[in-house]
Amino acid sequence: MTGTEAISMIFVPYGQGRGRGLDVAELGVHGVELDRLVALGLPIVPGLTVPVSHATLLARPEVAQAAIDLLAQVAGRRFGDPEHPVLIRLLASTPVGGGVPADLPGLGITAASAPVLDEIVGSSQAVYDVFAAAIRYVGEHGAGIPGDDFADAEYDVPSHAERAAAFLALSVAAGCPYPDDPAGQLAQAAQATLRRWASPRARRQRRGQGLPDDLLLALHVQAIRVGPPERCGHGVAESRDPATGEFAPTGTFRRSIRRGTADGREGGEPLDNLPGGRDLLASALRTLELHLGAAAQVEFEIRDAELALLAARKVERPAPRTAIRLAVDLAEAGVIDDVTAVASVTALDIETLLHPQLQLTGDEAEFGRGLPAAAGAAVGRIALSSEQAVDWNEKSDPVILVADETSPGDLPGMLAAKAIVTVRGGLAAHAAVVARGLGRPAVCGATALRIDRGAGTVTSAGQSLAEGDLISVDGSSGFIYAGAVHVVPPRPSGDLEALLRRADQVRRLGVRANADNGRDAALAIQYGAEGVGLCRTEHQFLGERLPLVRRYLLATEPAEEAAALVELAAAQKEDFLDLLAVTGNRPVTVRLLDAPLHEFLGETAHEVNPMLGLRGVRLALLRTELYPAQARALFSAWVDVAATGVEPQLEVMVPLVALAGELASAVESIHRAAAEVQASTGVTVPYIVGTMVETPRAALIAGQLAQIAQFMSFGTNDLTQLTYGFSRDDVEAQLLTAYVERQLLPVSPFASLDPDGVGELLKTAVAAARRVNPAIKLGICGEHGGDPASIELCERLGLDYVSCSPSRVPGARLAAAHAFVAVSGQRAT
Ligand code: PEP
Ligand code: MG
Repeated sequence: MTGTEAISMIFVPYGQGRGRGLDVAELGVHGVELDRLVALGLPIVPGLTVPVSHATLLARPEVAQAAIDLLAQVAGRRFGDPEHPVLIRLLASTPVGGGVPADLPGLGITAASAPVLDEIVGSSQAVYDVFAAAIRYVGEHGAGIPGDDFADAEYDVPSHAERAAAFLALSVAAGCPYPDDPAGQLAQAAQATLRRWASPRARRQRRGQGLPDDLLLALHVQAIRVGPPERCGHGVAESRDPATGEFAPTGTFRRSIRRGTADGREGGEPLDNLPGGRDLLASALRTLELHLGAAAQVEFEIRDAELALLAARKVERPAPRTAIRLAVDLAEAGVIDDVTAVASVTALDIETLLHPQLQLTGDEAEFGRGLPAAAGAAVGRIALSSEQAVDWNEKSDPVILVADETSPGDLPGMLAAKAIVTVRGGLAAHAAVVARGLGRPAVCGATALRIDRGAGTVTSAGQSLAEGDLISVDGSSGFIYAGAVHVVPPRPSGDLEALLRRADQVRRLGVRANADNGRDAALAIQYGAEGVGLCRTEHQFLGERLPLVRRYLLATEPAEEAAALVELAAAQKEDFLDLLAVTGNRPVTVRLLDAPLHEFLGETAHEVNPMLGLRGVRLALLRTELYPAQARALFSAWVDVAATGVEPQLEVMVPLVALAGELASAVESIHRAAAEVQASTGVTVPYIVGTMVETPRAALIAGQLAQIAQFMSFGTNDLTQLTYGFSRDDVEAQLLTAYVERQLLPVSPFASLDPDGVGELLKTAVAAARRVNPAIKLGICGEHGGDPASIELCERLGLDYVSCSPSRVPGARLAAAHAFVAVSGQRAT
């Protein structure tokens, strides 16, 4: 073996690494990547790797010469042939990826060859740019010539050619002339790269990136053919069209020589103009997708109309539409299983797809921010009252309702508004709960906003807007902007349903929706809800029905109360007919009235702590005819609906229970109502009775409650409020934001279930209830039912279902599948 042959043994031509028993520790990420492309039979740029343990040798001219000789053989091209010029590209990679120095694409150019290349490429700018960049890089990082000297040298030079000449002269004057031969240049470029990598600054940077500061480099040397622009170029491409998510190679290319690492922002011509056509590129991307099980991204060269790949990797964060379409395509092709398909999409991807989004440019004027209370985005005029919102909406003027907080009386305004902003209130407050139910974007607890209804203004951080001014609201991020920001409408795709059907195959937890009427239920079912997990009957009395419930609540005489109840029950039966008809044969949990008095009576309510006052079952124990009247309305609606051939599975639920006796009394009155309906209609209505578990005491006595209840649903809004003693209406925006900032809490417990406290109560309740009644049905209907982390906790606790607002149902179906995989330890393929 000659000396040169011995040296050349240290090089590993692309594709031969694995055969030599080398892995990423020696070949670097790029070497392994190119090995894989060769193994897949894809066309690659000719090149070789100088493995990590030999990388420093490349700084020796004789070693660099041997590398070039071998490269010439691999490429089938001679260096220095003026007819078929070839450039040398030096790049580096580490065994872990990340932090690599920039590549040098223009080695091998000399003062003599530059004009010839210029002629061939047809762009002196590109040739001289890469030439000058190489001189400067080697001078600065290898020879230690100050960067400022190069900056001075390029100041005022009239052309690219003269800049390169000035840099050459500078290297000579500094006593480190830039070599005139390819091997000398490669050796010095290797040295510069290694020195730069070892510099204290680079080490510091690596530490900052969490990389070991003594991380080593593999070097890679490639042969880049230079040719005329009609037949040559370079570009970047991805396998998927980000707008549709479909397989459709998307990217650009330039008819010139590459100047540096592609970053996808280079612009250029569309792929349709590729010399030689785009078929081979499309086929390579398809092969890569099937191999990677992910959207693929490549850097490529076109030389003499032939494709050669320089790099290929998976797209790390594909757009939501792409992620979903790809998962469905790969699963349908049998490349991945359902678990993998489902794991590759996030609940956030789904949310993004289902809700309008603001298209931000960075120039928007932030007006305020609050809690992201209901996803989506909207633009409209500020309306400071429900009446104004209704009025403008009737004139087809889009409005945003901006209020200190909302109450049931504001429902018409909330319905009229495109979005809702409140100064006070948290994620489980009235505005947030209702906005989510209505599918309106909402930002709540925007505490910096000051509303002056008298003056008709909203002020925030010194900026004042008038009622009628335009604002843009992003309920997914909590930001409010002055003026109109472009809104991108949601474009749900058929792929989403296909993906969610796969999620349904994976998940164990049922997914239901909180729906108060037929409209909500229809939307929920369209989104794949398996039933209604919570119908808040008091919500049927919002808006124009509010006087009905007020008359009942304020009645002081028995006759007045009875008359109000008759009206209330009649109205309710209408709503139940609608809800049950839409629900079909599915389960539907109807919660009897839980009307916090302040929400329904406003000023006339005299409770100091209304959320702890005469609510739920407590009111029903004082007004003993209330629940029976509601139950009769429900059962007789069922009889009417059943006559049409539909048999909803009724679950009647009692709210705010803290004592077994409260539940027993309510259940007795429900049974009484059923017996009355049977007597009057001759129909035995099938139903089960259950309780909400939303007071800590209820959770602690779940065993007692389970002797009476056939199902239990955790009302984690109230349970969180009562476990922490955090008012769900008051603390979130200011207090909990500060707690999260100071890391006292990882996240608001109203957004994501607190596993340690509330979760522990749930665990105790589940165990006690199942001990008494193993068949008891257990679910959750607080807002947490739509939160992925909380859904995972529900899976761990072995609940039967989660119930959330209709618009969160698709995300919950996916999150339930993720939760099952996480908890069961199933592996994706
Ligand atoms: C709850 O408390 O979690 C619940 C679902 O009931 P509401 O939000 O109506 O109080
Ligand atoms: Mg509650």
